Amino acid sequence: MAEQVVFDKAKVELHVHLDGAIRVSTILGVAKRRGIPLPANTVDEMTEIIVLKQPATLTKFLGKFAEYMHVIAGDREAIKRIAYEFVEDKAKEGVIYVEVRYSPHFLANTKVDPIPWNQAEGDVSPDDVVHLVNQGLSEGERDFKVKARSILCCMRHMPSWSMDVVELCKKYQGGGVVAIDLAGDESLNCKANPGHRKAYEEAERCGIHRTVHAGEVGPPSVVQEAVEVLKAERVGHGYRTLEDRDLYQKLLARNMHFEVCPISSKLTGACDPDFTKHPIITFREDKANYSLNTDDPLIFNSTLHLDYSTAHKYMGFTEEEFKRLNICSAKSCFLPEEEKKQLVDSLLEAYGMVQSTAF
Ligand code: ZN
Repeated sequence: MAEQVVFDKAKVELHVHLDGAIRVSTILGVAKRRGIPLPANTVDEMTEIIVLKQPATLTKFLGKFAEYMHVIAGDREAIKRIAYEFVEDKAKEGVIYVEVRYSPHFLANTKVDPIPWNQAEGDVSPDDVVHLVNQGLSEGERDFKVKARSILCCMRHMPSWSMDVVELCKKYQGGGVVAIDLAGDESLNCKANPGHRKAYEEAERCGIHRTVHAGEVGPPSVVQEAVEVLKAERVGHGYRTLEDRDLYQKLLARNMHFEVCPISSKLTGACDPDFTKHPIITFREDKANYSLNTDDPLIFNSTLHLDYSTAHKYMGFTEEEFKRLNICSAKSCFLPEEEKKQLVDSLLEAYGMVQSTAF
């Protein structure tokens, strides 16, 4: 997709899924090596099968993962490689710090629970997956000079995995994992699934940061639950928060961070496809704390540049706003305080906003 680069400066990305950001060429290469048949042999044909072009339903979107996850899941070399290549791709987009998320269970192949693409019994556990991703990210960080940390995802329909996820967050807290997330079908709330709540309580107790996908397609009550019950420090998407003025005002007052994903929100059908009516415009006008993110660039055939150029072209975003939102993103990242301060300083310097401390 031809794209315009409207903000060719240092950027921070906080909401992107590793398993939604794999290169199509890598999927084809790994399938060939493993002897796994795919419905296409070329990058163009396979792209055609994976990519969502028109606004669709979230269910249709989630179905896209089943086209290729069986190729990568359970393959040690492939898991490490997608993490490494991810960092290289972010470097090309001018990202200097990224938090990438994934479900360790989705990339494993031990038969712990039913996963649609997990056909064979294997020996790659969720723990192995986290170890391999950490290796790929840290080698990528060394080679491409992009700082990369990860967030481990719980899945709403699998509350039995959540305690495993928080235990992995604890185990790898010093190895690149900075937070826990909850993704999936928002109609499954936490009252009916106490596994998520218990995992988030444990995360809070152990100093593990917390974000939750909420208010993407689900109502404001899901956002409220994320913030009040799960003690989320950031909200993934959060567009529908705007339907509850009191909640929105409360979150604005708390400087809650919203991880917004323009291209994603159109193609998953979460928001009106008319970008001129997008909730992000309200966030901007209210000087809310938010980031711009790709979410799943493989499935949307997009890049971070496309999200920025869309915000510029259809929503009137200016360079000043791009700088402001990136500084907000850096301040809301899940790095330890000292590293966070360094990140904010790097952006201020890159944007020519350094204030002289000499007096
Ligand atoms: Zn997401």
